[in-house]
Amino acid sequence: MDITLLDQTLASAGQPRFRAGQIWEWLCRGAESYEQMSNLPAGLRSLLADQVPLSCLKVEQDAYARDGTVKALFRTGDGRPLEAVLMRYRDGRRSICLSSQSGCPLTCSFCATGTMRFARNLSASEILDQALHFRRMEAIDHCVFMGMGEPLINVENVLAACERLPDVGIGHRKITLSTVGWIPGIERLTQQSMPLRLALSLHAADEALRSELMPVNERYPLSDVIEACKAFYAARKRRVFVEYVMLAGVNDRYEQALALAKLLRAAVGASGETIFKVNLIPWNPVDTRPAQRGYADPEAGEGPARLFEGSSRESIAAFKAVLVERGVPATVRLTRGRDIDAACGQLAAKAA
Ligand code: SAH
Repeated sequence: MDITLLDQTLASAGQPRFRAGQIWEWLCRGAESYEQMSNLPAGLRSLLADQVPLSCLKVEQDAYARDGTVKALFRTGDGRPLEAVLMRYRDGRRSICLSSQSGCPLTCSFCATGTMRFARNLSASEILDQALHFRRMEAIDHCVFMGMGEPLINVENVLAACERLPDVGIGHRKITLSTVGWIPGIERLTQQSMPLRLALSLHAADEALRSELMPVNERYPLSDVIEACKAFYAARKRRVFVEYVMLAGVNDRYEQALALAKLLRAAVGASGETIFKVNLIPWNPVDTRPAQRGYADPEAGEGPARLFEGSSRESIAAFKAVLVERGVPATVRLTRGRDIDAACGQLAAKAA
C-alpha cells in the first residue's frame, strides 16, 4: 500500500489520524480487501477502494514449487518487474526473500539479476507490499533481503520497511540484509539501532579473484569490507553471516578453503570469538551470458560472459570440513524452489 497516498487521502476526506493505523493493522493480518475492514465506516471503505489500491504492486504470477516454495512476479505502478519468494520449512518456519531493487546495478558474474537491466530502487511501500502479498497466504516469521538488487544501495527505504516488518510478524532479529560489501550501507546499519542481521556475499578470499567475480570489489576491496564488518560486530554484537557460492574449479579448492579460514579467523571480537559464520551456497545454474538476454553489444566487447558450473556435493562437504576444523562455523545452504527458478541468485524477471 502506498502509505503516503493513504495518509493524503485520509486527510482530504477529513478522517481522524487513527484510521491509517486501523488499515495498516488489517493489512498486517492478511486482509485482502477494504470490504473486510469492518471497523471502518462503509463510505470510507468504498472511497478507499476507488482511490488507494490495496497494493502498489500488481501480481503477474505466483509459481508453486514441489517443495512448497512460492515465487511471485510483480510489476510496479510504472511497469518495473520484480520477484520475491516464500520458503516453507519442515520445522514450521516461513521465510520470505524480498527484492530491494528492480534489477541490480552490480554485475556479479554468476548471478542472474546482474544480467538484467537495472531499473530503480524500490520504495519502502513496494518492499512491504511483497511481504503483505505472502502474508495474505499465511503467517510469516523470517525475512531475508536476498532477492533482486543490493539492499544497502537502497538502505534508507530498506530500513523504513524493516521498521514496519514486526507488525507483519517478522521481528528485527529475524531479518537479514545481504550485501556485496557496500561499505557506506554497512556503516549505516552499524549506526542505526534495530537488531538486524548482516550477511556478506564474500565468494572469494583473495582480492583478485573476488574482483573478477564481483566487480564491486574494485570499489570496496574485501580488506576494507572486513573492517566494516568488524565495526558492525563491535557495535551491534551480532555475528555476520558470510555467503560463499560454490563454483567448481573457481573458488572451491582446498587452498581456497584454507585462505578463507585464515581470513575469517583473523577477524575476532573482543574476547577472541569468531565474528563470522559461513554459509556455503550450492550455485544454482543460471545463464549469465548477456547475449542470452538480447542486449549484448559485441562491438563494445561484450562477449559471452564466463560460464560456471556448481561444485559437487563432495567438494562442498570437503570445503566445509576445512573451515570447521579450523574453528570457523560453517553450514551448507538448502536449495529451495529450483524447479520454478526461485532459488538463490535466480531471480531475474524473464518479463524484463
Ligand atoms: N545483492 C545482495 C543480495 C542479493 S543476492 C548480495 O549480493 O548479497 C543473495 C545471494 O545469492 C548472494 O550471496 C549472491 O551472491 C547469491 N547468488 C547469486 N547468484 C547465485 C546463483 N546463481 N546461485 C547461488 N547463489 C547465488
